[in-house]
Amino acid sequence: MILILTPNIEPESDTYKQLMAHLGRLHNIQLRIHREQGVEQSLTEIYLIGNTSAIPVEDMKTLPGVGRVVRVSEEYRVLGRHKGDNRAAHFDYQGLRFGQDTLHVFAGLCAVDTTEHVETMMRVLRDHGEVCTRMGAYKPRTSPYSFQGHGEKCLPYVFELAGKYGIKVVAMEITHESHIDEINEALLSAGQPTGVMLQIGTRNTQNFELLKIVGRQQDYPVLLKRGFGITLAESLHAAEYLASEGNRKVVFGLRGVKTNLADPHRNLVDFAHVSVVKRLTRMPVCVDPSHAVGSRGNGPEGIPDLMHVTAQGIIAGANMVLVDFHPAPERALVDGPQALRLDELRQFLEDVQIAREAYEKRSALAERYRVTDADVVRTV
Ligand code: PEP
Ligand code: MN
Repeated sequence: MILILTPNIEPESDTYKQLMAHLGRLHNIQLRIHREQGVEQSLTEIYLIGNTSAIPVEDMKTLPGVGRVVRVSEEYRVLGRHKGDNRAAHFDYQGLRFGQDTLHVFAGLCAVDTTEHVETMMRVLRDHGEVCTRMGAYKPRTSPYSFQGHGEKCLPYVFELAGKYGIKVVAMEITHESHIDEINEALLSAGQPTGVMLQIGTRNTQNFELLKIVGRQQDYPVLLKRGFGITLAESLHAAEYLASEGNRKVVFGLRGVKTNLADPHRNLVDFAHVSVVKRLTRMPVCVDPSHAVGSRGNGPEGIPDLMHVTAQGIIAGANMVLVDFHPAPERALVDGPQALRLDELRQFLEDVQIAREAYEKRSALAERYRVTDADVVRTV
């Protein structure tokens, strides 16, 4: 059960103290408090953890300072969409809104290799009006002998160039807690020229200790990739680990699942789950066509499979696209075969726009045909 307090109730206030005194008397119920400081107001939510089925919602509503009460009916307590729950399904970062009705493209290098490639990538993004990118510094590789990423070494020039070309958010995978400190320090020494969205890769979706640590910081939003060999529910629980530790700025990333049945693609595309994740939770949903498809190949009309699946995700309502581009894919140190070329960026972005407009038209159509409870009663 979640008690949503009326805005701006301070922990030092009498109202808050009286409320806590009441809640302290509840038997076998633990409290977890989440405070969100917005620009104009602060919001406090109190999670009652334990068997709350015997606690009447009406009683809780009369307690001092309580605005609304939500009975949590689903497993994803913080990120889930509960009955009567109209809390916001978005967060703001670096002046950008990430929500279930926005769309951002993060095109960029799978792995940072040379300064020149980073600069070319950022310049081309700026020239196309883009303000987000992906840049892998820490690469989890299947073989210990493969290039592991430049790590901390590349952060100063990645951040400096991001600032130079007006990039506001860089999606960057981390595989260890020390990487957060390294990113912090590099951003600080560069004068905070950009922001970072920490990415948890598919190989770490159930690295619970990493999830808890990333969840405890609220400086950076998190892109959590779906685990490639686990169920959707298991991956959503992983997202809930982040939120239950305090960080609810979480984007959920679909990137395909591992099975030979995906051949000739690298993974079986799972973008049919976009609407499922949006229905079950309040998270924005990202699709990663590059790691799903894993190769270049065109349909007979000339559209690359990578663009087809991107469009499939967006036409279903995806809110973010994470996609590999490279100035010279044949020289990329990681995942060159799946990278689009920079001269394909304009087509890619136009194609994204077409799919987005189709999604918006489809949503408007659904609104026109929406069946309300009253309609059902009328036809019975
Ligand atoms: C990536 O986006 O660079 C990546 C490694 O993705 P995934 O974790 O989905 O394989
Ligand atoms: Mn990759």
